[in-house]
Amino acid sequence: MKYASVVLDTHIDKVLDYSVPPSLLTILKPGARIETTLRGRKLRGYIYALKDDSDVPKVKPLLGVLPENTWIRPELFKLGLWMAKYYIAPLDQVFKCMIPPSIRKEVKAKTKVYLTLNKTKETLIEAVKDLRRTFPAQSAALEYLLKENGAYQHDLTDDLKISKSPIDSLLKKKLIKSKKIEASDSLFENYFETKPKTLKEEQQKAFEKIGKTMNEKKFQVHLLHGITGSGKTEVYMQLMQKAIDQGQSVIVLVPEVALTSQLIEKFRARFKEPIAILHHKRSLGERSSDWSKILEGKAPIILGARSAIFSPAKDLGLIIIDEEHDSSYKQTEESPCYQARDVAIMRAKMQNACIVLGSATPSLESFYKAEKGKYALSSMTKRAANASLPKVKIIDMVKEYEKNGGYTHFSNDLLEGIKTRYQKGEQTLLFLNRRGFHASQACTSCSNIISCPHCDISLTYHKKENILRCHLCDYYLPSPRKCPSCSSLDTFKFKGFGTEHIERSLNAILPDIRTLRMDRDTTRKKTSHEDLFDAFRSGKADVLIGTQMIAKGFHFPSVSLVGVLNTDGALSIPDFRAPENVFQLITQVAGRAGREEIEGEVIIQTRMPEHPVIKMAMNQDYLNFYKEELESRKLFLFPPFSRMIKLTFSSTNEKGAKQIAECFREEILKNLSPGDKIHPVIPAIHAKVKDRFRFQFLIRSEQMLKLIENVTHVKAHFQIPSKVRLLIDVDPTSG
Ligand code: ADP
Ligand code: ZN
Ligand code: ZN
Repeated sequence: MKYASVVLDTHIDKVLDYSVPPSLLTILKPGARIETTLRGRKLRGYIYALKDDSDVPKVKPLLGVLPENTWIRPELFKLGLWMAKYYIAPLDQVFKCMIPPSIRKEVKAKTKVYLTLNKTKETLIEAVKDLRRTFPAQSAALEYLLKENGAYQHDLTDDLKISKSPIDSLLKKKLIKSKKIEASDSLFENYFETKPKTLKEEQQKAFEKIGKTMNEKKFQVHLLHGITGSGKTEVYMQLMQKAIDQGQSVIVLVPEVALTSQLIEKFRARFKEPIAILHHKRSLGERSSDWSKILEGKAPIILGARSAIFSPAKDLGLIIIDEEHDSSYKQTEESPCYQARDVAIMRAKMQNACIVLGSATPSLESFYKAEKGKYALSSMTKRAANASLPKVKIIDMVKEYEKNGGYTHFSNDLLEGIKTRYQKGEQTLLFLNRRGFHASQACTSCSNIISCPHCDISLTYHKKENILRCHLCDYYLPSPRKCPSCSSLDTFKFKGFGTEHIERSLNAILPDIRTLRMDRDTTRKKTSHEDLFDAFRSGKADVLIGTQMIAKGFHFPSVSLVGVLNTDGALSIPDFRAPENVFQLITQVAGRAGREEIEGEVIIQTRMPEHPVIKMAMNQDYLNFYKEELESRKLFLFPPFSRMIKLTFSSTNEKGAKQIAECFREEILKNLSPGDKIHPVIPAIHAKVKDRFRFQFLIRSEQMLKLIENVTHVKAHFQIPSKVRLLIDVDPTSG
């Protein structure tokens, strides 16, 4: 074994041979992290394989090996190989997402670097534009700092997934300043200990069924279909205890970082064992220290978002995927476009572990597999804490407008509802799909809608900052008075409403009622979601207004009314998953009401009261929804009756991207299996994002592995010009 093939931390999508110096011969194995050179440049990477010969004439030697905590452990290495193959992704990118940046970069630092702006906003906005083409990373970093008005360096590099060097350049250009701040480890608070609850009958049944496969220590996927409030968390916790008692560790995935805080509290109150928490809102230092705890086997409970599925858990016995239907488990904008739920299933299979997928509204794919017997199904149809399901009322907004003599955000029933809750000291949740104040700003004189210069989307008006912001690339500009197209002054009209507007209107109508808003604008800071969550739960507000974020899995004991302000838009999205998404969303958000003793009510405002999806969501009738939706998927051969791959080509050159997409498609066409269906090349839903034009096509197949082979083959032989980027999305969540 004198040679090693190596995957370097660089986009060359090839393994390279190096010779192994005698001192490293006995140490190295696949997954080991090494250091070497490529064309004179020092680089790091991972050992792919060790071998006796190499065809390469003049092999360079490896330079050294890095500490073992940076290695990819054998079971994860195997998982990585599977991912690269299945998701048609370069190995370096797969390995990159398996090891957190803090470990790869060996962050130990206890001081944090805080970055602030060093020039006027106007100058910096100009700089963002100037830098975009030549130094996109610098431009993005500057934009981030503008938006946040200063940030910790590690938050910035983490969020944007960039290195430190663009920041150094910005510092050199004196556009920004930095200072060092002492980091303090987060303090462990004391929690009131909670004892395991006596399980209700359905919970007990599920617990026993899942527990049985845990006893046998064999691989099995369990689908836990439990209505909102049926006590899934309690079942999870008792299963976790079982794993711990068996000396095994557990990985728990949640779809939203904000949800980790709720579970951390519950877990800390129940378990004495240390809990490792991994998600991108934590600092690199915090993640580093939790990673070591996992490696040392000191933290048998690992909690996190998507990428926590790659944590090096010792003796993994159980994986829990909460809200398994949630789209955030899928990485969509970057290779590998993996579905964490499916990766988790593969991992459990490779390690003989038990895996539980929990949801009140399982994805069609998962429920279908359960129906076919591939997954073991446990159902919980009753609420656990003596609560009944909330009453749901649909309000026809068209009639409401007639009554009101014009548009209104709030139906009478909803306003009355909010008032009564307020008088009783109960709380209300208002859900809306859009953040910001107005959806767009349009000129009444020339009908020009102000849109993002870098994306094909209209800019959203944000009142507090008086700016127009792009929700795709975060570009913004002060809301103009003069139309850029026809130069008329003050001819603008605003259209559509977001959470910010709803909050203001409610404040105007009911000034006594205290409101909080939770959306991407109010949760940018590292801890803001926890703060908002705590503030609302401790009764500092009567109404919480929010986007998708508030719909997922939260447990607010005093919420007795949920208002769904408008989801009609979501139903008209041209995507075969739109009905499923809307059904899940309404059911989930409705499920936030009346979770304990207080009876809950849900008010859905819509202009399509007869829409079947709305009606089924009203009855929280998952099974019927499943049946009907499955029928229509079958008719059109959509998943689960076929699998899909989406290929997206992007470039700053519109024609170039389209042409390459067409050529690539031609190549794939040559080897298509009978029954496969290839769609035409079309502009992506957002045809332009950050100055890049995007074209895509879909392929559907009932023989997925063959199709993957086909695409892999074409990709390997097709010369894609460097200016065109290809993103391959296997099992895409949107069409
Ligand atoms: P889900 O995750 O299914 O939506 P939760 O796990 O949040 O539901 O449970 C909802 C409520 O029911 C919580 O207040 C929880 O403490 C309570 N609960 C769960 N199991 C039991 C039980 N066996 N007995 C009494 N209360 C329970
Ligand atoms: Zn105009
Ligand atoms: Zn934009």
